[in-house]
Amino acid sequence: MTDKWIRLSEISPHHTTPAMRQYLQAKMECEGSLLFFRMGDFYELFFEDAVEAAEILNLALTSRDGPDKERRVPMAGVPVRAVDSYIAKLVRLGKSVSICEQMENPKDVKGIVKRQVVRTVTPGTVLEPELLDDGRNNYLAAIAVGEKEGAAAFVDMTTGEFLTLTVAPQSEELFDELARLTPAELLMAEKNDASLFMETEKRFPEMAVTRRPADEFDPEYGKEALLHYFQLKTLEGLGGLALSDQALACAGAVVSYLKETQRDSIPQLDLPRHQRPSAYVALDANTQRNLELTVTMHDKSKRGSLLGVLDKTLTGMGERKLRHWILHPLSELEPLQERLDAVTEFYDEITLRLTLRDALKGMPDIERLLGRITASAGNARDVLALGTTLAQLPEILRIADSFQSPLLQQLQTTLDPLEDITSLIERSIADDPPLVLNEGNLIREGYHEELDRLRDLVRGGVSWIARLQQEERERTGIAKLKVGFNRVFGYYIEISRTQSHLAPDDYERKQTLANAERFITPSLKKYEEEILTAQEKMQILEYDLFVALRSQVAAAAKRIRKTADALASLDLIASLAEVAATHNYCRPELDKSGEIEIADGRHPVVEDINKQNDFVPNDTRLGENGSRMLIMTGPNMAGKSTYLRQVALICLMAQMGSYVPASKARIGLVDRIFTRVGASDNLVRGESTFMVEMIETAAILNSAGRNSLLVLDEIGRGTSTYDGISIAWSVAEYIHDAIQARTLFATHYHELTELGDKLEHARNISVSVRDWQDTIVFLYRVVDGGADHSYGIQVAKLAGLPQQVLKRAHKILESLEAGGPTTGATESGAQQMYLFAPVEESSPGPLEKELEELDVDALSPREAQAFLYHLKHLSNRPRKGK
Ligand code: ADP
Ligand code: MG
Repeated sequence: MTDKWIRLSEISPHHTTPAMRQYLQAKMECEGSLLFFRMGDFYELFFEDAVEAAEILNLALTSRDGPDKERRVPMAGVPVRAVDSYIAKLVRLGKSVSICEQMENPKDVKGIVKRQVVRTVTPGTVLEPELLDDGRNNYLAAIAVGEKEGAAAFVDMTTGEFLTLTVAPQSEELFDELARLTPAELLMAEKNDASLFMETEKRFPEMAVTRRPADEFDPEYGKEALLHYFQLKTLEGLGGLALSDQALACAGAVVSYLKETQRDSIPQLDLPRHQRPSAYVALDANTQRNLELTVTMHDKSKRGSLLGVLDKTLTGMGERKLRHWILHPLSELEPLQERLDAVTEFYDEITLRLTLRDALKGMPDIERLLGRITASAGNARDVLALGTTLAQLPEILRIADSFQSPLLQQLQTTLDPLEDITSLIERSIADDPPLVLNEGNLIREGYHEELDRLRDLVRGGVSWIARLQQEERERTGIAKLKVGFNRVFGYYIEISRTQSHLAPDDYERKQTLANAERFITPSLKKYEEEILTAQEKMQILEYDLFVALRSQVAAAAKRIRKTADALASLDLIASLAEVAATHNYCRPELDKSGEIEIADGRHPVVEDINKQNDFVPNDTRLGENGSRMLIMTGPNMAGKSTYLRQVALICLMAQMGSYVPASKARIGLVDRIFTRVGASDNLVRGESTFMVEMIETAAILNSAGRNSLLVLDEIGRGTSTYDGISIAWSVAEYIHDAIQARTLFATHYHELTELGDKLEHARNISVSVRDWQDTIVFLYRVVDGGADHSYGIQVAKLAGLPQQVLKRAHKILESLEAGGPTTGATESGAQQMYLFAPVEESSPGPLEKELEELDVDALSPREAQAFLYHLKHLSNRPRKGK
C-alpha cells in the first residue's frame, strides 16, 4: 500500500458515511476473508482487500474519497454477473471470500439499502460446479490430537458425507487419512497444537489450513453443536463417535465452521459415520504416491495412475466411490468376497452389465445437485436435472430385478423409486427454466391456480392493448395512433405531431417528442397498474413456489442420497467388471494364509501404456516357507521396480474387491502396504536426500507387522556404496528376523544376493537379461537366483556413452574384479573405488577426470543427458599429448 491510500484499521467508525459504517460492520463479521460488497451491478472491494484482489484478479484499482482530504480509499470491483469466475480464482488460491448482498431493492427504499453477509466461500465450502472436480470429493476436515487420542472429521458439503475417525495419539493414521482424502481445507485450533500444526504444514505444504478459535474444538461444545445441528436428544446412536472426545471436538468444529460460512443456508449433512481404521488396509502417504494410486508421480495426472486404468465409471458419484475404494482397501475377508461376487455377476452377465451401463450413461451427479438444492443454492435447472435423472430409476430398478449376488441384491433394495419426487418435479418445473429465480418462467402451467390466473392477466394484457389501440383509432379517427410502452413513462398513446390537435379531452399530455406527442388516459393508467402489479406478483409468486418446492425436494434428501449412493456403487462395480473383461483380469482367491501366489502377473498401468502388447507377465510366490522375503537383483532398467509395484498393486486391487491382472492369483490378506523407494529413484520430489529416505525407512520398521506387505526399492541408494550396502543389509535382516513381514526387496547391489542365500526365509530372484556381443537385451523375465553381475557398462552403452569411455570402463572393471590396481588409471576422489583397490597417482585424461568427479546419484535425468552430450563433445575433440 502506498502513502496515498488509507488503511482499514485507520478508519474510525464515528467519522464515516452510513455506507462505510455498513461496510465496517460487514467486514467485522467475516474477518480474514475478502469482502465482496454489493453495490448495484458490482461487488466492490475496499482497502487492503481491494489492493490484494486487484493484484490477483488483474482488476483496475481505483479509489474514492476518504475521511481526510489527503488520502483515498482504494477500491476495486467486479460485475455481478461475472462474479463466479472471480470467486473461483480466489478460492483456488486458498483464499476465502465473503459475499455481502443488498437485502432490499434500492428502488423501494429511501436512503441506504439494507445489506447482509450471506455466505463465505472457502476452499472447503464451495458449491459452485465450476470449482469442483466431478470425480473427487471436496472435503472440509478438522484434526485434533489430545492426550488420549487423536481424531479427524471430514465433511463433503457437496454430497452430505460426514465421517469421523479416532486414532492413537502418536499414530500415523491421522496423516495417512489426510493423504487419502486430501481435504480442500483443514481446520485446526488456534494456539494449541503448535507441533501438530507444524507437522501438518510440513507434510502437506499445499493444503489450505484455517486456524479456528480453540474453544470451537472443545468436546462439550462439539457435542452441543452436533445435537443442535442434527436435532438429536442424544448422540448414543452415533456409536464410536459418542466415545471419543477428540472426534466430537473435530465434528463440532466442522459444523460450527459451516454455520459461520454458510449462514442461513447450511446444506443437509448425513449423520457422522465413524470410520474404524482397522477395517482398512493402512496405506501411508508415501505408498499412495509411490504406487501412483490416483495420480502419477511426475505430473500429478490421473492418466497413468491405477485410478486412470480402473475408471470406467459413468458418473461422478461412481468415480468418487472408486477413488474411495482404491484408497481404502478392506482388511476383512467377508465384505471382500461380497464385492467380488458382485463384480463376478456383472463380469459373467454381459447383457446385464451393458444395459445397466446404458441406463447410467450421461446421468447427472445426483449428490452434487442435491448438495446445492439442500443448501438453497440450487436453481430451477438443478431441480429439473434432478427430476430427469430420477425419472430413470424405474428402468434401473427393472434391471436390478434380476440381481443375484447378496451385495447387488442389497443395493437393489436400497434403491428408492422416488416416484413422488419425480412426479412432483415433472408437474411443477417449467421446461428450460432460466438460471435466475426472480424473472419468472420457473413454474409449469397448471401447477398453481393463482399463478395461472396472473399469467392469463398478463397475457391478456397484450391483447387488451391491441384492442384499445383499435378502439382509440376508431374513436379519434387517427389511423396511425399507437399504444406503446416505455420504462420511464409506462403505457402511453402516441399521436404524430401534425395530428395531435385531434386528441380527445380525456387525453392527458405526458411527453413531447420531435414529431409526436404521447398521452395517457385514466383507463390506460388503471390498466397499466393492474398489469404491472400482475407481472411483479407473478414473479414473486413463482419465486415463492419454487423455493417451497425446492425445500420439499430437500426434505427428501435422505432418501435421494441413499439411492444416489447405491447408484454410485452399481456404477463402480459394473466399471470394475468392464475393466476386468476388457483387460483380461482374473478373479483373485482370497484367504488368510499369509502367502501370495500370482501366475502371469502384470503391472496394470505399464501394461496399459505399453501399446505393443508385449508386456512380459511374471509369477510370484511370496510368504510360504523359505520365501517370505524376495531379494531381487538385476541391472538398472531391467524391470525390478515394475515387478515390485506390480505385486503390491495386485494385492491392493484384490483387497478393494477388484479382479487382478494375472491368469491366477491367491492373495493372503495384508493389513498394511508399505513402499519405500530409494532416494534417487524418486527424482520427482526434489528431496532426494538420504535423510528423508532413512526417516521413512525408520517409520516402516517401527510400524510394520507380520501381516504387512513391504516393498523396498533400492533403499540405501542415496549414500555411498558401502554405507548403502550396509544399511540395506541390516534393514533386510531386521525385517527378516524381527518383523517377519512379506517383503520384496530390490537392489542393484548384487552383493546383496548373499543375503538370499544366508537368511532362512529369504530367496534370491532376478530379472534376466541377455548379454549378447556386449550388448544387453532386457528380457523382463523374473527367474530364481541372484544376478551375477550388474551390467552397468552394458546399460551405459545403451545410453550412448562414447566407445572410448566404454572400453576404458571395461579395463577398469576387469582390473577391479581381478582385485589388482588399475593400470594407468586413477580413482582419486571417487569414493566408490576406494572400496576395492588401493589408489595410484597418475594423470587422468579429461574424460576420466570428468567421470570420476561425477556424482551420479545427484543428477536429474535431464542433467545426465546434458552430461552425456558434454562427454561426447570432449571425446570428439582432438587431444594433445596422448
Ligand atoms: P529397474 O527398476 O530395474 O531399473 P524398471 O522397473 O524401472 O527397471 O523398468 C524399466 C522399464 O522397463 C519400464 O519403464 C518398462 O517400460 C519396462 N518394463 C519393466 N517390466 C516390464 C515387463 N515385465 N514387460 C515389458 N516391459 C517392462
Ligand atoms: Mg528401479
